Amino acid sequence: MTPAPFTYYRPTSVADAISLLTEHGDEAKLIAGGHSLLPIMKLRFAAPEVLIDLGGIDDLDHIRVEGDEIAIGALARHVDLELSDLLRAEAPLLAHTAGVVGDCQIRHRGTFGGSVAHGDPSADLPASLMALRGTIVVEGPGGRRSIAVDDFYTGFLETALEPDELVVELRVPRVGDAPWGYQKFRRRGIDWAIVGVAYQSEPGAGGIGLVNMGPTTLRASASEAALRSGASHDEVAALAAEGTSPVGDGAGSSEYRRHLARVLLSRALAGRSTT
Ligand SMILES: Cc1cc2nc3c(=O)[nH]c(=O)nc-3n(C[C@H](O)[C@H](O)[C@H](O)COP(=O)(O)OP(=O)(O)OC[C@H]3O[C@@H](n4cnc5c(N)ncnc54)[C@H](O)[C@@H]3O)c2cc1C
Repeated sequence: MTPAPFTYYRPTSVADAISLLTEHGDEAKLIAGGHSLLPIMKLRFAAPEVLIDLGGIDDLDHIRVEGDEIAIGALARHVDLELSDLLRAEAPLLAHTAGVVGDCQIRHRGTFGGSVAHGDPSADLPASLMALRGTIVVEGPGGRRSIAVDDFYTGFLETALEPDELVVELRVPRVGDAPWGYQKFRRRGIDWAIVGVAYQSEPGAGGIGLVNMGPTTLRASASEAALRSGASHDEVAALAAEGTSPVGDGAGSSEYRRHLARVLLSRALAGRSTT
């Protein structure tokens, strides 16, 4: 299938992108890497009349230290995160996670901002952003605001973004060599996760994010609380699926996904990571 016809704009600044969003309202859709949006446009699940291509904005792909955080531009591609020496040293969970997204082509086109903004609970990077207790910086006509990742996802493919706002930056704390683990269970190396678990240890950051265990990226709150209270890793892992609502589908039943979450968290806590 081919997408329905649309008018195409390629602004060269964030301000121009916001003006176009404001002008066209619900008829408009932002496009970054296009690797989530274009497939659904081809299936005609989405048919925006206006596409606003962020690819012409050239100052939104940075990865740099700002105080005790790392600031990552929304247009940084998965491969930029994967190969960043800075991220590998300061937030290795994120660099590793970017390296297990899809295949090489996906990682060269898909952007961090697009992955976070799309709101797909099957996506890998939002779970690691959650484990790191990151923030999402968005900009609209009223200026910039920061949204904690816990407040960003409001439902399946739904976020706290206003229609005239875009994601401009993602921020994570510098955690250095604090222990972490990322486990992604999939049938083939290039597949989406059936379930995934991201773990980043304390101090400072510290958290556990779950992939595909409900309608949004989820925090494993019961496991985090157990970890803080000094429970053993076995006890922490046993709580991984508490409060989740995974769907059952051709890849596995909801009970199978709960089982996977427990096993994968156990492995992630041991510092093991999907290659
Ligand atoms: C075959 C295939 C396999 C894949 N496998 C995986 C996988 O294993 N794991 C995984 O996590 N992902 C996977 N993906 C998704 C891929 O990582 C996408 O690139 C990513 O999720 C979306 O990023 P994008 O830049 O392509 O966004 P786009 O497709 O351009 O946009 C996605 C959505 O986000 C919005 N958007 C984009 N940028 C912004 C912004 N800056 N501010 C506000 N809204 C914005 C768009 O309007 C759109 O609604 C796969 C995709 C494909 C096609």
